Amino acid sequence: MRMVLDGREVEIKPCPFCGGEARLKKHHKFKQTWYVQCHDCGIRTPYSQQLPFQSWKEARNYPIHLWNRRTNKNRVAQESEEV
Ligand SMILES: [Zn+2]
Repeated sequence: MRMVLDGREVEIKPCPFCGGEARLKKHHKFKQTWYVQCHDCGIRTPYSQQLPFQSWKEARNYPIHLWNRRTNKNRVAQESEEV
């Protein structure tokens, strides 16, 4: 899924587990807390609030980075675990 943040287009990759659409979400309760969650199976990244950040933009962008990295490495990680 593509979305625009600060005038830049950012891509959030499909869910590595079910292929569903993932979205950036803001926590309903905590300030400056974002995460990426699969709309279909509900799996999500850790909350950005749990990690140290310099700015709210960084806190918001990090879950996207984390999510996209996980979808890239997912297959590799599974293969190495089976060895
Ligand atoms: Zn999913």
